[in-house]
Amino acid sequence: MLLKKCPRCGAYSLRDICPECGVKTVSAHPPKFSLLDKYGKWRQKAKLTMHHIKHSEVIS
Ligand SMILES: [Zn+2]
Repeated sequence: MLLKKCPRCGAYSLRDICPECGVKTVSAHPPKFSLLDKYGKWRQKAKLTMHHIKHSEVIS
């Protein structure tokens, strides 16, 4: 199932046409999503790095 979004009223819909304003909806997968994904990956990486630093502190 692909979530669609109305570019006019911003309502999310699963239809190709917004039931509110009759405007053709667009795919609700803006670059926002990939940015969040990137951020999540970065956080994961930072966590790993922090863990690594802690680990090496213990060793030295
Ligand atoms: Zn609409």
